[in-house]
Amino acid sequence: MPWVTPYAPTRAELDACITCGLCLPVCPTFRLTGDETASPRGRLAAMAAVGEGLEPVDETFEEIMGFCLQCRACEVVCPSMVPFGRAMEGARAEIAAQRPRAARTVREFAVGKVLGSRASLKAVTAGAAVAQRIRIDGILPGPLRRMKGLRALPLRPSSIVGEVRRPDGPPIGRAAVLAGCVMDQWFAPVHEATLELLRRGGYLVEVPEQQACCGALAAHDGAADAARDMAVRNLAAFGGYDVVVADAAGCAAHLKDLGHWVDGGEELGGRVKDVTEIVAGLIDAGRLPELAGDLGEVAVQDPCHLRHAQRIMREPRRILEAAGYRPVEIDPVGMCCGAAGIYMVLHPETSNVLGLQKADQVRAAGPSLVASANPGCEMQLRSHLGGDFRIAHPVELYWEALRTDGS
Ligand code: SF4
Ligand code: SF4
Repeated sequence: MPWVTPYAPTRAELDACITCGLCLPVCPTFRLTGDETASPRGRLAAMAAVGEGLEPVDETFEEIMGFCLQCRACEVVCPSMVPFGRAMEGARAEIAAQRPRAARTVREFAVGKVLGSRASLKAVTAGAAVAQRIRIDGILPGPLRRMKGLRALPLRPSSIVGEVRRPDGPPIGRAAVLAGCVMDQWFAPVHEATLELLRRGGYLVEVPEQQACCGALAAHDGAADAARDMAVRNLAAFGGYDVVVADAAGCAAHLKDLGHWVDGGEELGGRVKDVTEIVAGLIDAGRLPELAGDLGEVAVQDPCHLRHAQRIMREPRRILEAAGYRPVEIDPVGMCCGAAGIYMVLHPETSNVLGLQKADQVRAAGPSLVASANPGCEMQLRSHLGGDFRIAHPVELYWEALRTDGS
């Protein structure tokens, strides 16, 4: 029996590939290696071989799947609409389920329990904040040096869970905000911008207590049961809201696809909005102002889970223009920056090559201010660009401009 879990890639998903190869030029790992097994088509063929019982789920299969960034650039160009991201999550779930129990437990603990628990994450954050202050990032082993991409962390991390913000007039609807895992502890200014812009745009804003981490990192790493548990909790927590808002592109993309994980998830996914979508919509509707100032140029980086997974490109630019910035493009095809969740830790060399490429694109574009709507991309950019550049979320920049303007 080649597959052992209900999450495995399905025959229909794999048969959809017509092996045309149109996805090859947009795949970062294929471009780096020229190797068919590092391409979307090759990975789908490897999954099909296992599904047909021709190959086992072994180390080679794990290597082929593990090298994928899950950036989903291949989905955008695929004429057969192969749901590559879903199939890859299924393949990763199979690999995790068929690993020796000890290895499985350690990985599941990291992505399921640490990220899934606010208390654990607070302890990790406080420890990392101390490490930042005594500047040990330079002596840490390889992948952990990525700490230098973090924002300055608080010694006493706070959380927005439980917050309620009321609009000045009658509400136009009830909005729930996903607190997330690292977003909640490490990106407080982005959360503050999100809460306040939704409130000022007319929403009654709540951050429900019962919610969990979105589960994207668990799903991407094959910790399927942990991802499913989080999906079940979020389904209960976000029931009854008109809109559910996530301010990390990776979280929004995962919540929109929750139908893959839990019955009822599709209905919830239909109510999910990336914060860039909802804020741009509030600006378009005249509920948030367009500011008249000229704040200069900003380079726009498109996170894969915004551009490829959610197909969102206009909205961050619209928000930046409304704030008074002039957006500058850095990359016509939206190649992955190499962060890719925990990929930057598991595959530091490949992640580094892609990060350096992205940093070169930013430098060539000119501005020292970069807008990015995903925490992993932000960390990757900061880590490769250094202190002369500022990287911030588009809604954070808009909220700052709005406060400065006094509108
Ligand atoms: S573009 Fe789609 S159909 Fe063509 S090889 Fe890639 S995955 Fe298969
Ligand atoms: S998700 Fe990204 S890295 Fe993986 S096969 Fe598709 S394009 Fe390549």
